[in-house]
Amino acid sequence: MTNASSPVHAGWPAQRAGAVLTINLEAVAHNYRLLKAHVPNAVCAAVVKADAYGLGAAQVAPVLEQAGASQFFVAHVDEGLALRHHVRAQAGITVLHGPRPDAVEACLAHGLRPVLNSLDQLGWVRAVARKNQRALGVVLQLDTGMSRFGLSVQDVRHIAANPDLLDGLSVELVMSHLACADDPGNPANAEQAARLVEYAALLPVQAPLSLAASSGVFLGPDYHFNLVRPGAALYGVAPDPQATNPLRAVVGLKAHVLQTRALSKGDRVGYGLTWQASGPCRVATIAAGYADGFIRARARGFAWFRGQRLPILGRISMDSMTVDVSSIPEGQLETDGMVELLNDAYGVDDVAAAEGTIGYEVLTSLGHRYHRNYVHAA
Ligand SMILES: *Cc1c(COP(=O)(O)O)cnc(C)c1O
Repeated sequence: MTNASSPVHAGWPAQRAGAVLTINLEAVAHNYRLLKAHVPNAVCAAVVKADAYGLGAAQVAPVLEQAGASQFFVAHVDEGLALRHHVRAQAGITVLHGPRPDAVEACLAHGLRPVLNSLDQLGWVRAVARKNQRALGVVLQLDTGMSRFGLSVQDVRHIAANPDLLDGLSVELVMSHLACADDPGNPANAEQAARLVEYAALLPVQAPLSLAASSGVFLGPDYHFNLVRPGAALYGVAPDPQATNPLRAVVGLKAHVLQTRALSKGDRVGYGLTWQASGPCRVATIAAGYADGFIRARARGFAWFRGQRLPILGRISMDSMTVDVSSIPEGQLETDGMVELLNDAYGVDDVAAAEGTIGYEVLTSLGHRYHRNYVHAA
């Protein structure tokens, strides 16, 4: 029996969780400084939407501030409200999707700068500016070819003909977004840059321009304009999947080995018994699955142990996956207890290539069950 004065020891957090996610904040700071050095004549903002791509905006944003960032971008108003608690009061927070009508006041109250993507949004924010009798800082997004967000060129012409549509709004930035920046040879990049300049010139106000996210930073100075908005590159994702990654890896992931067993020729593994041993082998069940961000649809790829590749076998389960450990001398895994799923040599882009997706999706899927180990600057 236990009582309040002798609590049961809960075990070490890293032992209670299935796997340990290491997030190297010093690498995030390094990546910010590297990006900033690429854009000497532009502001280097930091995109921390989706909880800093799954890595924790509360931990990541203050480190980016220390590295020199003073402008942050999130997707939703809620994300901006949450971020307000983690950055300096004077830090700029821009909300990419802009507000719904009933969230404009919240933006105003908490100093969130909305991106206005439609004439409707423009109207909602103008109404609040009028009511509060003060000019509101806003960003106008222009659609330069991606057909996702932003005012069309017709909308821009409409504003040009009716400049009072901007009454009470202080346009602090005019932005657009590249559809093909990870493909430097794609002619759409230059076309979008030219349209941004052309459409912005039609507006009745002049404002700084912004086009580049992570990959755009590496397209060269023609794409930098006055502000760049990298996200993924801060977290180590390759800006051009075909080229060497200039950024430092940020995440590492180690999962506990739950069981090992010896299989004979013909034995099968996992749901659906989709994998069959062609000869004697040894397998290990490790504690990460699709609920932890490892996509079941394409269960390829590897875990690693002391530099040895351990192929993933059969289907990925919710909480576990099975790997081939025949190359590891018996007893070693059982003693060491953990294998790597992400390391400096096999990162989110490698997992993405194996799973048929992009590093962004691997990062943002990592999930909330890992024990998180934040590594700060030495
Ligand atoms: C997400 C996003 C970014 C950041 O993109 P990365 O490719 O992660 O650098 C920048 N701008 C807009 C509009 C976005 O939606």
